[in-house]
Amino acid sequence: MDEKIFVTRSSMPAYEEYIDAIKPLWESCRLTNMGQYHQELERQLKVYLDVPEISLMVNGHMALEMIIQAFGFPEGSEVITTPFTFVSTTHAIARNRLQLVFCDVKSSDGTIDEAKIEDLITEKTVAILPVHVYGNVCNIEEIQRIADKYGLKVIYDAAHAFGVKYKGKGIGSYGDASVFSFHATKVFHTIEGGAVTFSDKNLYDKLYNLKNFGIRGEEQVVSVGANAKMNELQAIMGLCNLKHIEQAIAARKERWIYYKEHLQNKKGICLFEENDGVSRNYAYFPILVEESYSMSRNDLYDLLRENHIFARKYFYPITADMECYIGQYIEKGLTTARKLSEQVLTIPLYEELKWEQMNRILELVC
Ligand SMILES: *Cc1c(COP(=O)(O)O)cnc(C)c1O
Repeated sequence: MDEKIFVTRSSMPAYEEYIDAIKPLWESCRLTNMGQYHQELERQLKVYLDVPEISLMVNGHMALEMIIQAFGFPEGSEVITTPFTFVSTTHAIARNRLQLVFCDVKSSDGTIDEAKIEDLITEKTVAILPVHVYGNVCNIEEIQRIADKYGLKVIYDAAHAFGVKYKGKGIGSYGDASVFSFHATKVFHTIEGGAVTFSDKNLYDKLYNLKNFGIRGEEQVVSVGANAKMNELQAIMGLCNLKHIEQAIAARKERWIYYKEHLQNKKGICLFEENDGVSRNYAYFPILVEESYSMSRNDLYDLLRENHIFARKYFYPITADMECYIGQYIEKGLTTARKLSEQVLTIPLYEELKWEQMNRILELVC
């Protein structure tokens, strides 16, 4: 009863496995700057994620900032995105000095409401930046149709969608680019880390310059770059974790199905719909606490907390309502996003979550 159950727990390789894998670094003393392990992880992830091109980054947020910057949109251009996400998505657009245009989401799965995108397009619109929130896949076909019609770029925040496939293809192969996060709390991690996937080969060099100060030679700097390189210790953690990823996702899937079986018919608890054609990664288990439930979302959150179960209100508040964004964006109604954020509660799910712990959680919820 005293043990605390958090919403997630980092997946760890065996201690000896990681220690053995990092040993060669004490010989080479080559710890970063696109070394051998960085290259190897890029090679393996390209295959695993089933994507044409990939560039590793120090974290998912910088991956987002770098790919937005790589497209070179004029300052003040408008980007259509959703506020029902982790704040990083919104920050990455704002920090590139672009105008935030928030589109509402669908109550069925929390992704951008594609039927409301066109109404937000102006002559200043340059891109759509949707989020595969909780690994729920956006309406890719309709978003692409709109982007093609208006000549817009599509950049997916796929931070929650590692390993997800849509219609048999890697989720990162859709749109102009997708961004993954390999943060310690994500399904696959490199401690901190991230990547951009894309199909236009020219982007590889642009991203390389952006993540490495624009340095192309000892005496040659070609662009105003930042520093967003993944180091070798991160890359090796990724190589170790990638060996166990199928097992990790399978363990999540078993637990995810167990939750679903017990919660899908519970009065007042609603679950997101599962999209067709998707092979999932079972990253999160968000529940929606409706009015007909025996208590409010916040009371359920408190009840779980009192029992040392730390569910999280992912995502509340919506980013549009955070103090740094009030009055800073364009929108035409965010009713569903706000409503979902007031109903949602993400309950613990990770590969080592014990069945008795799940039963304790389910007893409190049911
Ligand atoms: C985790 C996350 C990010 C940021 O990734 P970091 O690796 O933590 O920098 C961006 N967007 C979403 C939706 C995320 O969940």
